[in-house]
Amino acid sequence: MTTPLPRFAAIVVAAGSGSRFGGPKQWRDLGGKPVIRWSVEALIEAGAEDLVVVVAGDAEAEAQAALGGLSGWRLTLGGSTRAASVQNGLAALKGPTDRPVLIHDAARPLLDRSVIDRVIAALADADGALPALPVADSLRRADGDIVTGEVERGDLWRAQTPQAFRHDKITSAYAAWPADEVATDEATVVQRAGGRVRIVSGDSRLMKLTYPEDFAMAEAYIPRQIRVGQGFDAHRWGPGNAVWLCGVEISHDQTLIGHSDADAGLHALTDAILGAMGDGDIGDHFPPTDPQWKGASSDLFLIHAVERLSARGGRLVNVDVTLICERPKVKPHRQAMRERLAELLALPLDAVSVKATTTEAMGFTGRGEGLAAQALATIELPARS
Ligand code: MG
Repeated sequence: MTTPLPRFAAIVVAAGSGSRFGGPKQWRDLGGKPVIRWSVEALIEAGAEDLVVVVAGDAEAEAQAALGGLSGWRLTLGGSTRAASVQNGLAALKGPTDRPVLIHDAARPLLDRSVIDRVIAALADADGALPALPVADSLRRADGDIVTGEVERGDLWRAQTPQAFRHDKITSAYAAWPADEVATDEATVVQRAGGRVRIVSGDSRLMKLTYPEDFAMAEAYIPRQIRVGQGFDAHRWGPGNAVWLCGVEISHDQTLIGHSDADAGLHALTDAILGAMGDGDIGDHFPPTDPQWKGASSDLFLIHAVERLSARGGRLVNVDVTLICERPKVKPHRQAMRERLAELLALPLDAVSVKATTTEAMGFTGRGEGLAAQALATIELPARS
């Protein structure tokens, strides 16, 4: 159980153009949701009474799409500088002006509740609060690539957001800020106006996404869970001269009968992936009554399941398929099946298993009435906080 925080408002600044990144990054996907959505959700869950998201004039539609389905936030338009954008956000806030306001960069998605707690608590005896990390690396001055000196790092900190202030304090501090100077952040503005800004512990996960490679680092910080799903399928033998199994066509004196290509291996595997996600079954996504799937290659079904997994920020870990039949002999085709599945699923070969067994002439597979397939899939999904 978390204790309720004092009432607070928040501004998320998302008006940047991402010049060092090569385009706005706040709308891009990180672990299955847009970058901006992570911190907006965290602030709403922490109880922000009023939350204003500041965006550039041409980005309203992107913001609406990125934050769709969430309630408790509003959009306002940014200005030509970050400081102007923050001031627009402050002006757009409703409610009491002695309330704490948290000002946060949308490019810092992994905002933990504990940081929100700390910056608000620090306002009890300060005019502002700044989450920051000590500098671990030693620092050097250089002229070009030639070292000219050392920089004492004992009193240096790496500033993060959200920074917290009383609404009236930050508004009056901005009013006093010289128009011809660029403000780095709000802590600088309040401190220059004579306010006391207290440092609280930041969070290394609260890194600012600045360069494209930062996404991989942030992804690694997102807690993940391992899940397993299983699938089963069977189809009846009928007249024909070839059969599709695990995405490979095999010459045979019969074929499997079905609405699609009747590839029971791919059907079982598709169900295993959907099962691991808790996302229904193949019949929900591709109803057998729908004529567009008549004779369809079952590759489509499998790829659809994998795309749904990717859309949730997940990935496959490994798959294991067992084909159950007396004939055809599967073993000569196993390697081709593994290679085809590895290609379809973008998995390394050692994460793809195809096995085969008979039922020693027992049951419907043993009597040659049909073929059955079982599959298991292991996936990784972002864990729900
Ligand atoms: Mg089937």
